[in-house]
This record gives sequence, C-alpha cells and structure tokens, in this order.
Amino acid sequence: MADDIKFQGLRGELKANEPMARHSSWRAGGPARRCFAPADLEDLSAFLAQLPEAEPVLFVGLGSNLLVREGGWPGTVVLTYGAARAPRMDGGLLYAEAGVACPKVARFAAEQNLGSAEWLTGIPGTVGGALAMNAGCYGGETWDIVERVVTINRRGQLRRRGKDEFEFGYRHCELKTDASSDGDEWFASAHFRLPEGDREESREIMRALLSKRRASQPLQLPNAGSVFRNPSEGKTAARLIQSSGLKNFERNGVRVSEKHANFIVNPGGAGSAADIEWLILHVQQKVEEEKGVRLVPEVKIVGAAA
Ligand SMILES: Cc1cc2nc3c(=O)[nH]c(=O)nc-3n(C[C@H](O)[C@H](O)[C@H](O)COP(=O)(O)OP(=O)(O)OC[C@H]3O[C@@H](n4cnc5c(N)ncnc54)[C@H](O)[C@@H]3O)c2cc1C
Repeated sequence: MADDIKFQGLRGELKANEPMARHSSWRAGGPARRCFAPADLEDLSAFLAQLPEAEPVLFVGLGSNLLVREGGWPGTVVLTYGAARAPRMDGGLLYAEAGVACPKVARFAAEQNLGSAEWLTGIPGTVGGALAMNAGCYGGETWDIVERVVTINRRGQLRRRGKDEFEFGYRHCELKTDASSDGDEWFASAHFRLPEGDREESREIMRALLSKRRASQPLQLPNAGSVFRNPSEGKTAARLIQSSGLKNFERNGVRVSEKHANFIVNPGGAGSAADIEWLILHVQQKVEEEKGVRLVPEVKIVGAAA
C-alpha cells in the first residue's frame, strides 16, 4: 500500500499490510492496513495527530488476548510494546508506560520492596492491555492497584484521569458514561499504589506462581490464555468445556488444550484465525447444548472476516 497520508517527523516504524499473526500470541491473524510502532509517547502523539478522524484505530500490546480475523484490520494498528521506557518510581507510586510488559512491572515492584504486584508476573501482556482487560489472577486484579492513569486521544493529547473515572469489573474496564470525553481514548501510562513488601518474599511468590502456571497451562504452544470468562463463582469455563467432552477437539491443527480446557492452542501457528474463531464458536455451542451455559469469550475478536 502506498500510504495515502504523508506523515511528518515520525521516528517510529510505519508499515503497510503488516500480518497481525506476528503480533498475536496465537500466531494467527490477518493484516493491518497500516501499523505503527512509535519510538516513544511523543512520537505516538505526533502520529495520532496526523491520522484522519474517521480512521479505525486498534491499540495492541503483546496480543496475548487478541484475535484479528483473516480479513485483517481495516485501519491503523498501534503497537505499544517496543516504545515503553522502563518502569520507575514517581512520588512513592510505581509508574509504568502502557507498553511495559506486566512481568517487568512485577519484577521492578519486587526490587523496590513493594508487595501485591507479584501476580503480574503471570500476565504475558502489557500494562495497557492489563488496564483495558482488568487482567488478574491469584486474587489480584489490575485496577485494585491503580492510583491514576494517563490516556491518549485521537488527536494525540494526553489526559490524566483518576481511578474513579472508570468502571471496572471482571475482565472489563471502560470510562464512566458521565466522565467528560471527546471520543476514543487509550491508555498511555499508569501509576500504581503498592504496599510495602519484601523483595525475597515477592520473588518466592513469583517463582511459585510461575511453576504453578507451567504445570497447569500449555505455555509452550501458541495460545491466548483463557478463551472464555468463568461464568460464576465455583463454575469454571475449563470444567464445563472438559465435561462437555471437548478436550483435544481439533480443527485444522487448532485444538482445545489437553492440559487446560479453557485454552485453545495453535501448534506451530499452523491454524488460521478463522479456524480459531470456528473452534471458539463450536465450544460455545456445544457447552450450551450440554450444560445450558452460554460461555462468553474473554479474548477480543476484531477485524473483518476473509
Ligand atoms: C499464557 C497466557 C496466560 C494468561 N493468563 C491470564 C490471567 O491469568 N489473567 C488474565 O486476566 N489474563 C490472562 N491472559 C490474557 C492476557 O495476557 C491479558 O488479557 C493481558 O492483559 C492482555 O495484554 P496485551 O498487552 O497482550 O493486550 P492485547 O492482547 O494486545 O489487547 C487486548 C485488548 O486490550 C486493548 N489494549 C491493548 N493495549 C491498550 C492500550 N494501551 N489502551 C487501551 N486498550 C488497549 C486491545 O485493543 C484489546 O482490546 C493470559 C494470556 C496468555 C497467553
């Protein structure tokens, strides 16, 4: 694609028809019409300011909860991961830009003798993705530890927002309807308030958490974590899928994991986004038939069908 916009003064990397399989932990997905990996936040601001108002924009962190359909993303994808500076302390709070990987935040918190962030080591995504999804595990959730965030809008303007301006819950976060906003906003950074902790204790918790994950999740195969939300306390999606006889169910190489039934794996990246979506819908339909429960996907499925 010869770009129809003549961007000025960018330092990041701009690409056309970028396969999103390269930016999704499932190793599948169609192309983004335009894809920008900013050099830093200032570069991102400059880029957004030059995009037309109507351009569909998708922010992507590490793509660990994302499926872009085969037809691809019909606008611009912004890749936040490469741009982020290392986390740092700022006035007693832990500050991290949206593109920082969650395990890095967990390790930095431990180094600073701060507790309650160890669980972030188990989230293979970025701070921005964790804020958008209210990611959590082992009793911790992202918004529990947020003090405030900075968002960036379509014109590339940054805005500081308090936690009280957002509505969040289980794997969900959105700006409150009464919060003043003039359109799309994405997360640029967050300040986290963490209690005092103990470095060695935190490291021990992280080691234990990772070994528990390695034992229970198919981490060596391309996947996107839990595909469905757990329907209610005590009823896990994994158990419902397993007891519907769907473990190992396969379509064109994509299959329900043997190790964890709420994971769909794509060994070798051989399957397509269409195969993955087909399997998600199949599992949803079978569980509803067998158990009378309609599972709701946790993964974000975007873009156009082929
Ligand atoms: C092995 C494995 C284990 C996992 N375990 C867990 C778990 O225990 N708990 C859990 O909650 N999740 C888990 N996940 C899912 C995933 O890691 C989280 O949802 C994570 O927060 C996604 O972050 P990301 O940067 O990869 O987001 P992406 O997958 O890149 O994006 C996810 C969504 O966030 C949006 N987004 C990304 N960045 C921004 C931004 N800066 N501003 C606004 N929106 C943005 C995207 O547009 C998209 O809608 C797991 C995934 C894997 C592969």
